[in-house]
Amino acid sequence: MSFAKLGLSQPIVDAISQLGYPKPTSIQNQAIPVILKGEDLIAAAQTGTGKTASFVLPILEKLSQGETQRKKRIRALILVPTRELAVQVEQKVQEYGQHLPLTSLAMYGGVDEKAQKQALIEGVDILVATPGRLLDLYGKRALHFDEVEILVLDEADRMLDMGFIDDINKVLDRLPTDIQNLLFSATLSNKVRDLAKSAVHDPYEISIAANQASKKNIEQWLITVDKDQKSSLLSHMIKTHDWDQALIFIETKHGAAKLAAQLEKRGIVAEAFHSGRSQAVRSQLLADFKAGKIQYMIATGVGARGIDIEGLSRVINYDLPFPADEYVHRIGRTGRADASGEAISFVSKDNFKNLCMIESRLGHLIERREIEGFEPRKPIPVSVLNYVPKSKRQNQEES
Ligand code: AMP
Repeated sequence: MSFAKLGLSQPIVDAISQLGYPKPTSIQNQAIPVILKGEDLIAAAQTGTGKTASFVLPILEKLSQGETQRKKRIRALILVPTRELAVQVEQKVQEYGQHLPLTSLAMYGGVDEKAQKQALIEGVDILVATPGRLLDLYGKRALHFDEVEILVLDEADRMLDMGFIDDINKVLDRLPTDIQNLLFSATLSNKVRDLAKSAVHDPYEISIAANQASKKNIEQWLITVDKDQKSSLLSHMIKTHDWDQALIFIETKHGAAKLAAQLEKRGIVAEAFHSGRSQAVRSQLLADFKAGKIQYMIATGVGARGIDIEGLSRVINYDLPFPADEYVHRIGRTGRADASGEAISFVSKDNFKNLCMIESRLGHLIERREIEGFEPRKPIPVSVLNYVPKSKRQNQEES
């Protein structure tokens, strides 16, 4: 199936071919016709599957046929969990809509609101926003919702994990009732389904199968190692394999700063990317990392979403993430679309339960390797697939 056959018109098809996308991805093939028809949709799809284009392209198509909006009015609202994702999605809107007269804006907190207010006065067709800043400016009457035609809840599971449920409900209450609602989520957990009950009506459902979570073009493996050896192991791997770039995930801000300092002592320059750094610094780090000026970036969970780095070859889980879905999101940073990538996790004995949960979520074991000189003194037991933590067993039985 080509993009034109999906019902997208020439200006959009031209933009896509300029970007070099060979053909629609699975989620695009399924979602675009449904959205063009005007149906509500709930879709389970991870980042890296091309999900952003699967809603942005049909939204552009639909809005390009309508009339321009009045001041302070928006026609499509895309709600996202993080600032980084807001910037990234809005950038896609611009890229895909480059031959259309439509306007867009990324709106998020942590920066001065003046420029965002001004852009709203001038008119915005597609607004990509985080819930907090959106409600803030709505409360100040900087924008009105009466002309909204389409709502997208992007990465809904992540928004719920971040505690945005009340904000999302407030937004839903204030939107016109007859709009088209689209919900995208990496996972369709019970929490997401509860939200879907109020957010989407009689929706069409698409699921890019959960075991495609382990994308084939990502080589995943893990290194068993003692906890106190992880930092030396990382330096060893960087030096012996001459890695061009790596996004390294770690649990805490403090841990990120400490690891950067340890690497520096061994002559490796790395930057720490976490919520303790200002938005301006984070944006600059991201730009430098994307441009290849920074080789190694050490990020806490906040960095996991919204980082879209063309051709990022390697993600390292210095700490294993929790919950298991977070692993899927993290490895989704690499091998995006058609590129190939590598996801390496450092696993010590105390990570064992977490590892079992991740492997159960993936539906397969992750290949284990040992590195000479770093063999663990505390062995990591054999994995248990279909591992369910005690606290969850009861919930699963109920549902
Ligand atoms: P997403 O899942 O929306 O985060 O997209 C992942 C990456 O895939 C982005 O860098 C897109 O530019 C890229 N992409 C989206 N659709 C396609 C496609 N049909 N062919 C190739 N790359 C794509």
